[in-house]
Amino acid sequence: MTLSIPFDNSYARLPETFHARLDPARVAAPELIAFNTVLAEELGVSGTDDPLLAAIFAGNMPAEGAEPLAQIYAGHQFGGFSPQLGDGRALLLGEVVDRNGLRRDIQLKGSGPTPFSRRGDGRAALGPVLREYVLSEAMHALGVPTTRALAAVRTGEDVYRETILPGAIFTRVASSHIRVGTFQLFASRQQYAELQQLFEYTRERHYPEAKTPGDLLAAVCQRQAELVAQWMSLGFIHGVMNTDNCTLSGETIDYGPCAFMDQYHPDTVYSSIDQHGRYAYQAQADIIVWNMAQLATAMVPLVQDQEAAVTEFTEIINAMPNLIRGAWLTRFGAKLGLAAPQPEDARLIADLLHLMQTGGSDFTNTFRALATGSARDEITDRAAYEPWHARWQERIASEDAPEARMRAANPAFIPRNHRVEQMIAAAMQGDESLFHHLNAVLSRPYDDQPEAEELRRPPLPSEVVQATFCGT
Ligand code: AMP
Ligand code: MG
Repeated sequence: MTLSIPFDNSYARLPETFHARLDPARVAAPELIAFNTVLAEELGVSGTDDPLLAAIFAGNMPAEGAEPLAQIYAGHQFGGFSPQLGDGRALLLGEVVDRNGLRRDIQLKGSGPTPFSRRGDGRAALGPVLREYVLSEAMHALGVPTTRALAAVRTGEDVYRETILPGAIFTRVASSHIRVGTFQLFASRQQYAELQQLFEYTRERHYPEAKTPGDLLAAVCQRQAELVAQWMSLGFIHGVMNTDNCTLSGETIDYGPCAFMDQYHPDTVYSSIDQHGRYAYQAQADIIVWNMAQLATAMVPLVQDQEAAVTEFTEIINAMPNLIRGAWLTRFGAKLGLAAPQPEDARLIADLLHLMQTGGSDFTNTFRALATGSARDEITDRAAYEPWHARWQERIASEDAPEARMRAANPAFIPRNHRVEQMIAAAMQGDESLFHHLNAVLSRPYDDQPEAEELRRPPLPSEVVQATFCGT
């Protein structure tokens, strides 16, 4: 039996300045950990048995119709511009048009060195691969636009980090891998013909209704504003919002040091490399505006009248904080059960968050408890909670079915950090059961699952994860 992937590769048809073609490096002993059959079905991918899947998604056997390539891009990393980055350990196998008519990239991550590897080995360790698998699928189930997980394979080889770790390869599916940094690459190199081509390609693929560069910029800003508001409404901290990790499609990408917070605090940071809190929970709403300003800057050369472009783009960027506030209000309003939150409701939301912050309440469980009427059990300062509760009750008295709305906005289950760490530790010992259990429970995050109650529990003091790592 063979695997059939109906490839139709548009990025490979772009000029050589967009990518470097090369085949994945072979690995010693591919062994399939997981294959996402539901996603495969959606992609029109059909076949086959585990050994063949392992060989194909380890890069050992060429997938028919694939045209593997590493994409080139640039990007601001922690505010400093890196003029040339690129897929240093990833290869785009190609694209398929899925059952819904959407074009999707299929990419191997950890598939060996490329011309853009710099000092890296081109490989990925098992831990980060499983982490990305669980987190990206959980985000999808939570309703957040995100890249997806199609497969994870052990390589049977070691990778060398601070310690020796088992190697793995992740297969990522994305509606594209075009990044702010892709625009920045051509703009900074003054390759304006390529910049124009990238604009046309992005427009056709993601925003066919956009006529001008300004239209495209505004559409991306809209999606990114929605995305960040949604992250915040789930307590998600991306952790490395560099412009090379910021997509034009508006999908969440790059699950390196990201984490969901347990106790609510707006300054929460997990990433070990984010020492100044540039990408802290609350800072995400500001940094996305900064990232979009970098996109705007890179897009100015697309317009004949550059002065007019600067004026137009500045207006778009200046409008973004309001977009984010609006999206934030909609998301958090729904968390309180409100169908149409008004600007004055921001106070009600902020006051609850403040109560949660001062008492160190669990973000996820407190919001979930609102629907069941047990939120006061999650708040330390009961005396301060009661007047808030009364105000809230008064506000939702006229709402139709606020409980259902709250249940749909406040998940019972998130991939808690300590569980993800426990899952990785077990998998390193060869036990993949927690990995599969997490995936199963997190595929229905808004459902009560009494048998999985243990996964709702915040970490014990001994289980708290202090820092997360990129794992590169
Ligand atoms: P990230 O922090 O994962 O967004 O990666 C930043 C850049 O480093 C990207 O261009 C990656 O392709 C590259 N990179 C990360 N890890 C490795 C690795 N192990 N080998 C080669 N390149 C890498
Ligand atoms: Mg990246």
